[in-house]
Amino acid sequence: MRIFLNSVGCRLNQSEIERISNQFRMLDHEIVGTVDESDLVVINTCTVTSPAAADSRAMVRQAYRKNPNAKIVLTGCWSTLEEKKALDLPGVVRVVSNHEKDHLASIILEQPRENFELEPIIRYPVPGVRMRTRAFIKVQDGCDNHCTFCITTIARGPARSMPQDQIVAEIQSAVAGGVQEAVLTGVQLTAYGKDLSGNINLKSLIKSILHHSDIRRLRLSSLEPWEVGVDLFELWENERLCRQLHLPLQSGSDSTLRRMGRPITTQQFASLAAQARQKIPYIALTTDIIVGFPGETDEEFQETLAFVKGMRFAQAHVFVYSPRPGTPAVLLPNRIPLSISRDRSKQVREIQKRSSLEFRKTFLGKQLTALWEVAIPKKEGKWELRGITDNYLRVHAIGDQNLWNNLSCVHILECENDGLKAEIISGGYGCDPSFK
Ligand code: SF4
Repeated sequence: MRIFLNSVGCRLNQSEIERISNQFRMLDHEIVGTVDESDLVVINTCTVTSPAAADSRAMVRQAYRKNPNAKIVLTGCWSTLEEKKALDLPGVVRVVSNHEKDHLASIILEQPRENFELEPIIRYPVPGVRMRTRAFIKVQDGCDNHCTFCITTIARGPARSMPQDQIVAEIQSAVAGGVQEAVLTGVQLTAYGKDLSGNINLKSLIKSILHHSDIRRLRLSSLEPWEVGVDLFELWENERLCRQLHLPLQSGSDSTLRRMGRPITTQQFASLAAQARQKIPYIALTTDIIVGFPGETDEEFQETLAFVKGMRFAQAHVFVYSPRPGTPAVLLPNRIPLSISRDRSKQVREIQKRSSLEFRKTFLGKQLTALWEVAIPKKEGKWELRGITDNYLRVHAIGDQNLWNNLSCVHILECENDGLKAEIISGGYGCDPSFK
C-alpha cells in the first residue's frame, strides 16, 4: 500500500507521524510524497488554535479533492475531540483517537501490536511533512560500520558529511523561523567530518553551531558509543547543549555483541557512561536494545538483563530482532523463537520501566526548562501544556497562556505516567536560557 502522511501543528504530531511512518515501513508499505500517488492518507490533526483546527479540516478536503480514491484516516487532537465532525468530512473512513495512535498502523493493518516491536529501521524523513518546534537537521548520511543485523550500510552506502557551513546556515534559518531546538541527526553522527578536508569533526561542528547561531537548544541524536571520545563531553560546559546522550547498546552480553559485529565491550560501554555522568550531571543516558538476536542463549540474555539494570538508563527502546534480507545476521544459526524473544523483550522493558521512574524521581522538587510542544485550550482560559526538558523528560503543566514553542522554567511536582507534572515558574521568551 502507498501511504501519504501529513500533520498539522506541533512537533509532537510530527514525531508521531514519523513513528507511524516507520510502523508502516516495517511491514513493507511505501510512504509517498504526494496525495496523488497514495492509496491511504493519514493526517495527524491539531486543535491548539481555531486556525489549526481549520487547517486540519482544510488538509482533509484538499487531500480528497486531489485524490478522491484515497481512503483518509485521521488522528490527533482535533479529530479526537470532534470525532463526529471528522467522520463527516469527505473521504474519511476512520478516526484513531489520541490514546490509540501509538498503534495506528497495527489498527489500520489489523496486525497484532507485537509485529511492530522490531529492531529500529533506517529513519527517513517523512516525505511532504515539515518540522515544527524542533528542527531535525541532517548532518551526515551512511555508515562505514558493519553491524551484522543492520541494513543501513547496504541501503545507505558509506558515511558522508554535509558541509559545516551549510549546516550552520540551516540552523540559522531555523532560528530565524522561531525554532528553539535543533537536533543533529545522521546515521552515524560520530563519523561526521571524516570525509571532509580540514580538521572537521562532530566536536568542531557543534562548536561552530553554538558560536555562529543563537539556537537556544542543541540536541544530538544517536551516537555509536565506540566512536565517542570523552573529550566531546567538554562541550557540555555550554548549557545550550541538551543533557542527553543516546548511546545504542543493543546487547549487554559481550558474546552477543561480537556476533552483532559491534566493536565495543560492555566494560567499555560502562566506562563511557560513567565518564559522561561524571562530566555532565543529570544527563539522560538513553539506549536501544535488541533481544532475540540469533544464538542468544539464556545466559547471554541474563547478562543483558543484569547489564541494563546496572546501567540505569533514563530510557531504552527495546526491539525484538527481525531478520533483514541481505544482512549477515540472517545467515546465523540458532534463530530464537518469537515467543521467547517477546518474553525477553517484556522482561527488559519491565526492568527499564523501574530505571526510568528512578531517573524521573531524581528531579522531584528541582527546576528544569521545558520546551512546550503541545498546548491544548482548557476551561477558564487555561492551557494544558506538554513538553520536554533538555534531558529528555516529558513534562506536563497547566498554564495561563498558550506557550506552544516557548521555553519555560518549571518546578517539578510529581511523577505521572511516563513523565512529570510541573508548575510553571516563568514562561515565554523571558526565561533565562542558562537556567536548567
Ligand atoms: S553503526 Fe549503526 S548504522 Fe552503522 S552498521 Fe552499526 S547499527 Fe548500522
